[in-house]
Amino acid sequence: MVIELLRWIVGACGALLVAGAAFYKGSLSFSGMAAAVVMGTVYFGAGNAFWFGILLLFFISSSLLSKLRHDRKAELEETYDKTGKRDAGQVFANGGIGMLAVLGGAILPDIRWELFFVGAMAAVTSDTWATEIGTLEKRPPRSVLTGKRLPTGASGGVSWPGTLAAAAGGALIGSAAWLLREAAGMPARPFAELALAGLIGGLAGAFADSLLGVTVQRMNRCTVCGREVEAARHCGQPTEHARGWRRMDNDAVNLLSSAIGGAAALLVLLL
Ligand SMILES: [Zn+2]
Repeated sequence: MVIELLRWIVGACGALLVAGAAFYKGSLSFSGMAAAVVMGTVYFGAGNAFWFGILLLFFISSSLLSKLRHDRKAELEETYDKTGKRDAGQVFANGGIGMLAVLGGAILPDIRWELFFVGAMAAVTSDTWATEIGTLEKRPPRSVLTGKRLPTGASGGVSWPGTLAAAAGGALIGSAAWLLREAAGMPARPFAELALAGLIGGLAGAFADSLLGVTVQRMNRCTVCGREVEAARHCGQPTEHARGWRRMDNDAVNLLSSAIGGAAALLVLLL
């Protein structure tokens, strides 16, 4: 009981420290910081260093990559729904499915929660890595559906550097999962199993994100410059709905891709 309580307190302190630093550095908005504190506390309190460590690895690696070539990205970010500062919606879109797995694992401990979790977290990590690395590429990406060239940074665009980044991000999450389970004193699992869960979840999640991006994701059109953008405002004016499902915004796509990554990892490893 005391140990239990202590874990929640340690989790809250750790989450506050990391989220506070991210807020101070400008990676999180105020709402994003509050959401990250809740999320980190649950990951450690209901979970342990394994679950929390994976969340931290996703968060730190994504924040570092988003700082790369910031000048070029600043221009692209105006077309995105969200800017470099992550808000609460974005935090839950990335870590929400993982949090459900943490809670599931706390109520009914089972390796399947862990494999699903590794896949789901690999998916959001891979998608972020692919976006950050892919948008550095000078050649425009191709549509995942038709193979036609798309403007750099467009939803649904894929490129070789982006795909390799997705694979690397997923494999990193999977490998770290093996290490963190050891560190947290959890029963040993084969390294290949966890590394594969990360790789499969990451690639499936990033691919699903691109596919949803060209099909059902909500896109708006700027009434001034005519560009297709995710953002609700562009060129200082509100944008209008251009295509996709109105409710399927970038956060909804991320949440869904995370669930798909988790399910893919679980399915492949159970078969
Ligand atoms: Zn515009």
